[in-house]
Amino acid sequence: MADPADPGHSCHCSGRADHVATPGQARRHLLSVSDLGRQGIEELLSISDAFVEVQQRAIPKVPALRGKTVATLFAEDSTRTRLSFETAARRLSADVLTYGISGSSASKGESLRDTLETLAAMGVDAFVIRHPSAGVPLQASRWVDASIVNAGDGAHEHPTQALLDCATLRQVLAERAGESTAEHGVAGFEGLRVTIVGDVRHSRVARSLVMALHALGARVTLVAPSSLLPVSLDSWPVTASHDLDEALPSSDVCYVLRLQAERGSSARVPSKAEYVARYGLSARRVARMGPDGLVMHPGPMVRGLEISSEVAAMDRCLVRRQVANGVTTRMAVLFWLLASGPSPSTVASHASALLAGDLDSFTPRDLEAASVERADAGGTGDEVMEPVGG
Ligand code: ASP
Repeated sequence: MADPADPGHSCHCSGRADHVATPGQARRHLLSVSDLGRQGIEELLSISDAFVEVQQRAIPKVPALRGKTVATLFAEDSTRTRLSFETAARRLSADVLTYGISGSSASKGESLRDTLETLAAMGVDAFVIRHPSAGVPLQASRWVDASIVNAGDGAHEHPTQALLDCATLRQVLAERAGESTAEHGVAGFEGLRVTIVGDVRHSRVARSLVMALHALGARVTLVAPSSLLPVSLDSWPVTASHDLDEALPSSDVCYVLRLQAERGSSARVPSKAEYVARYGLSARRVARMGPDGLVMHPGPMVRGLEISSEVAAMDRCLVRRQVANGVTTRMAVLFWLLASGPSPSTVASHASALLAGDLDSFTPRDLEAASVERADAGGTGDEVMEPVGG
């Protein structure tokens, strides 16, 4: 996996952690989990943690991206991803532009490139892009001078989903270990047995999640009929099975995927009834995992097909928590892409400015360091991330 700390790496994240994005300079992007490597994933997970506290405030808003503009450009349906990106951007005080294919000039024949260039000319700092074709976010990163976030490109990747899933698992693993997430780090992922069941073939979530879990040391098993597995699993760091009942007793987590009807999955299963009988996650199947087994789903859930309502309502089903972490994870990603600031080595000398509440030009790593200094100075914490109105 590419290491962002290595200047020779071949990923799309064209900047260092302390990169200051100004017009004309290379921008940082999040196109694939492989852009991050273990170090990048850990960094984003700890930034996301910093925003969990903000999320719990009466006014969950900070001025960190004031003056920045984030545009969401979705050419495919979405509920969670788009709304959580827009919520995340607003909570960081960025301006938000929402672009949807219907009601736009795309219906008059305008190309995607012209659309992006038009929006970029309005002064967009980051585009969050979802598109049915794999590779569109990468292409967009070559067209416009703005950061690009891949919010799902065809069956290829969905990196922020993988990050929010890892953030959710990390919280639960830390709680079980009786530690804070910061203390726990990513230790709980080592050897964690995760079974991903369902339409892996068409799932961008599975591709990104397998990379992230593998980078953190988890062991992944894919369970699906052959028709719903990728043609070749040669480059996938996984084991594969066709038998969910057999895989569950040795699983710590069962991650359920939706059948991607819009990508042709229906033609790949004999019937829905047969799919439910062999791969649907029922309460009886969950019981095979043992009392600590966790259930996850990226949403939208199709109850009665890949997951039963009874399972969706279980405490061990983390779906709502995944959604909540979607906001903080996306805040972390936007912050990481857009917040300019000093390198970590200069944090100490800027701590006094942070203590005065000047968050705009600091990175979350600065925030963590400043929290330590603030605690030493007997501060309350409100000075660091001052809520703003609105
Ligand atoms: N929401 C996820 C995605 O956009 C999963 C799904 O749609 O099944 O890929």
